[in-house]
Amino acid sequence: MSPTAAGTGAPYGEPFTDEEVTAIRGDFPILTRTVRDGRPLVYLDSGATSQKPWVVLAAEQEFYERHNSAVHRGAHQLSEEGTGLYEAAREIIAGLVGAPAHEVVFTKNATESLNLVAYAFSNAGAGGGGATGAAADRFRIGPGDEVLVTQMEHHANLVPWQELCRRTGATLRWVPVTADGLLDLTTLDELLTERTKVFAFTHVSNVLGTVNPVRELADRAHAVGALVVLDACQSAPHLAIDVAELDVDLLAFSGHKLFGPLGIGVLWGRAELLDAMPVFLTGGSMIETVTMEGSTYAPVPQKFEAGVPAAAQAIGLAAAVQYLTELGLDRVAAHERRLTQALLDGLAQRPWVRVVGPAGAEERGATVAFVVEAGGESVHAHDVGQVLDDAGIAVRVGHHCAWPLHRALGVTATTRATFAAYNTLDEVQVLLDALDRVPATFGLPVGEKVAS
Ligand code: PLP
Repeated sequence: MSPTAAGTGAPYGEPFTDEEVTAIRGDFPILTRTVRDGRPLVYLDSGATSQKPWVVLAAEQEFYERHNSAVHRGAHQLSEEGTGLYEAAREIIAGLVGAPAHEVVFTKNATESLNLVAYAFSNAGAGGGGATGAAADRFRIGPGDEVLVTQMEHHANLVPWQELCRRTGATLRWVPVTADGLLDLTTLDELLTERTKVFAFTHVSNVLGTVNPVRELADRAHAVGALVVLDACQSAPHLAIDVAELDVDLLAFSGHKLFGPLGIGVLWGRAELLDAMPVFLTGGSMIETVTMEGSTYAPVPQKFEAGVPAAAQAIGLAAAVQYLTELGLDRVAAHERRLTQALLDGLAQRPWVRVVGPAGAEERGATVAFVVEAGGESVHAHDVGQVLDDAGIAVRVGHHCAWPLHRALGVTATTRATFAAYNTLDEVQVLLDALDRVPATFGLPVGEKVAS
């Protein structure tokens, strides 16, 4: 049986050859720059935000140079062209997750997408936001109802649900994480009940790299009548996604982690749910009729896109999706898996490094987070990051907006390397070599691994 890209069932392709990676790197202008006294940039922070290829920069520039206009508003040629490009972008981006264009809502980022859904729930409870009829009942929430999340969520998929519960009197519950960095599914029968209105969880953890069993979780949630919201921020840039196969109800991701521009995100939802879902932001462009007494709203997706849309960013994101699709997500996944395994192997040879999350690259996305510790002492991730930065290596340090997860793991902070198609095995070695300077720099008594 051929190996499958983690969590998707899609086969891994061939990893990129060295020549292909060199060609890919040539597409990303920022990778030619140096940092910190002329050192080549080793960018291992794509999980925070990816770099952008020329095609994306060019698509945005062309919009501003030739078609800049308020799309969906003007009666003139520029607006007509801009609107055409914006809607074509929606179609391309919808294709990435196997959905029709009208099920894709443009937002600012995944954080806004998730807040949109959480606010829709409380607006339904308050009888606002155009929520009428039985279909909107799925979004009505109040005391006695529950929202289920997991302990490995990014704050973007936790705080909006905490706030929803605070506004409505519903109760927040969460699936704990095991010491291996997996969801503790033994708790699920107790946590997922007919009281659960929504189960919101991440596809791939931005700290542990864990790929969650989305379909299994979605099936179990649907069996009790809960809606399933998937945070695909760390999966959409790396793994082929098909919303029908995953069988989720709503899904969010950010363009800027996927070679796209900053300031554009996606909320995908089943058409019938988006139709029933109350609106969040209101104002121009999202209405059907307005009187002084009240308003009715446009059909989806426009009813969720208040204000002049970020058309240049949407068009840039479509260029990014086309670029990624041409690379082949199966090959991207295989390439990143090779880099992830090389880093895991290298770290395993250093007993003073403790990796958090699953042991092998097979069970991971393109993320490796770790702590440096030995003999009962540890080096703070910020200090590790400083040593790496001096060597021109960009990683993320801290709690990566997953503070409760770090508490559960018993660590205050981790150092995190994340990969994209443009990273190389040589860069993994540069990272390992620089890491080797950490123990001596901070007087860590190496040679003895601290029990985790
Ligand atoms: N969810 C996950 C898993 C993430 O990794 C991130 C960003 O790091 C987000 C949500 C939030 O993304 P954004 O800040 O682009 O809204």
